[in-house]
Amino acid sequence: MKCYLCGLEAKVAEEAHGGELIDCSDCGIYRISGLVLKELTIKKINFTDMRDDLHRQRQFNSTEVAEINTETVIWA
Ligand SMILES: [Zn+2]
Repeated sequence: MKCYLCGLEAKVAEEAHGGELIDCSDCGIYRISGLVLKELTIKKINFTDMRDDLHRQRQFNSTEVAEINTETVIWA
């Protein structure tokens, strides 16, 4: 599978409710919700701003896993 943000090869694990957990060597680990995945077929994520936000989330929440869900997603 490919990373949704940078397009590089990434490890993808399926999660509950149609979500996925992505482990990308470039973008780090993030969870993407099923709803966002569904919207991704018609919309595009603003990669630069999203990656900045994932970084902020990790620092703010002191966690490795950042979240891309309907509340945090930044559309292009
Ligand atoms: Zn990536």
